[in-house]
Order: sequence, then C-alpha cells, then structure tokens
Amino acid sequence: MSHEPVGPDRDMPAPVVGRGESSVSGGVADEQAIDRIALRLRGAPVVVLSGAGLSTASGIPAYRDRDGRWQQPAPMQHRDFLASAAARQRYWARSFVGWRRMGLASPAPGHRVLREMERRGIVSSVITQNVDGLHQKAGSRRVIELHGGIGRVRCLACGERFARAAMQEWLLAANPGMASVVGRSAPDGDAQVADCVASSFQVPDCPHCGGMLKPDVVFFGDSVPRARVSAALRAIDAAHALLVVGSSLMVYSGFRLADYAHRQGRPVLAINDGVTRADHLLEVKVASECGAVLERLLARAVAWADQATPATAPASPARSRS
Ligand SMILES: [Zn+2]
Repeated sequence: MSHEPVGPDRDMPAPVVGRGESSVSGGVADEQAIDRIALRLRGAPVVVLSGAGLSTASGIPAYRDRDGRWQQPAPMQHRDFLASAAARQRYWARSFVGWRRMGLASPAPGHRVLREMERRGIVSSVITQNVDGLHQKAGSRRVIELHGGIGRVRCLACGERFARAAMQEWLLAANPGMASVVGRSAPDGDAQVADCVASSFQVPDCPHCGGMLKPDVVFFGDSVPRARVSAALRAIDAAHALLVVGSSLMVYSGFRLADYAHRQGRPVLAINDGVTRADHLLEVKVASECGAVLERLLARAVAWADQATPATAPASPARSRS
C-alpha cells in the first residue's frame, strides 16, 4: 500500500536540493558531526522526526533512494481509493500479500535506541512519518503517527476501527485462492500483484455496517488530520531541538515540521543517508545509516551520565558509617 502520505501539498513535485554545507559523510567529519549532535542531546530533551530510513533495517523497503528519487511504482491516491472499486481491489490484493512481511517486521536497533533515549529523558517524543508501528513495538510510548498506522483499518461509514490482523483473516476468507500468492514487497506492506489476480480479488466490507473499509493511514492527496499536526507542533515547541532520523523530508508534511522548528529557533539536526529537502535548514547532518549513528549517540550519552554519577557512589558509604 503505497501511501507515503500526505497533505494537500502532496502533489508538489519534490524540489531538487543539494547537500547543505553542514552535511558530512564518513570518517573524521562524521565523528565531529556526531559529537555536535550529541552535545545538543545533552541535558535537554529533543523531539525526533523519523522516516522510512529507520525501518529499512527491519526489512521494510524505503520509498526513495539517496538522492530523494522515488523508487516505487505510483502510490495509491486518496481519491482513487474512494472512487474506484478496481483501485480498492488492487490495493487490498497487494496489501494482502505485503502484510505477511509487514506484520512480522521487528524493530531495528535504531527503534530500540530511540526507546532507550525516551526512557533516559533524552528524547521527549517521536513524530513518525512511518506507518509500520515499529516505534510502539520497540516500546516507545510518546509516538505521534503523522500518517496513521497500517496496523489498523477504519470503516469510513461507522468509524469503527479494526486490527489489520483481523482484516487479513477476512481477506483470506474471501479469497482462499490467494493463500499461496507471493509478491515482491514494497514500502509499508505493499507488494506487486498481477493485474489479473487483483481484478478478481474480493474486498470485504465493514462487518458492522457494510461500509467501506480503509487502512487507517493518510494516502497521497489526503491531508494529515489537523489535531495530529497540532500535536506535532506542540511537541516541537516543548523540545529544545528537532532530530530528523532516516527521512529525506521530501513529503511536505514532514518538511514543514522541520521548517517550523527552524522558524521557532529550534536547532534542526539530521541523520539521513542521502539528501534531505531541508538540508539548507540543518545545523548539522550525519549522512550515514541512521541506526548505527543512533547507537553511537546513545553510547556517548551513557558515558556522560556515568561520568556525572560516580562522585556520589564512593563517598556515601563512608559518610553513612560515620
Ligand atoms: Zn462500519
């Protein structure tokens, strides 16, 4: 299901941006950039904005290559999903096949580091462009799913929400012949399925009211709900910096949060293996695979915390005895 989501501005072509001056990659420059980000993480919580680059290590393919170019076939458009029964057949047939990988995906090291950073008060919350639910699977508690979650299905008529796993069973019951079809996985549980298979695919309706079921995600051409955008802006207001992790920010709903943080005087930092649309706004960027960089940042934070605490440890037993 291709739905790297997002806003009315979705239709805007992604601008071609060059690397910002602050962008670095590899070796000593990488180390210096990591140090600069580590210093920003010290003593003041940051809010994280995560994207597909974080989940590639979980086996979920990214939408864009290092240069921000689209890697996948055209994604589902919101209006097509609503207007066309054939589009819904195609969508659910592909989703049915892709879900196996999506549903089984485990958090990557990067997700676990961010959970640990939340626990230590280094990260205040995570705003994610991903719909894979892996932050929550890793244990992060304060997660704003900008584009919704692929683990849920919503009835457009009665509003009832269902687990995507339940939908999988309904899809299988309606299409028993599909049990053995295997397609090539794409982002967010999508997969490629032959047209002849899709055209005969049966799409179940809401078991409560017979209404149209839709994954609880923001498709292209749809807007991120206002309340969700507000929650993201408040999270940025409450933090001392914005750390972009694994996102090229080519989609406007993500870019505008970086732009907002910048305009609010919050340093914008990034770990992304490639260009971002906000390179010109970044205070510093580490152009490397984000999971490994996050692990190094956490290691620095832990080392600093250890340096800060030992003073009390040896002294207290002596005092308690006297
Ligand atoms: Zn319903």
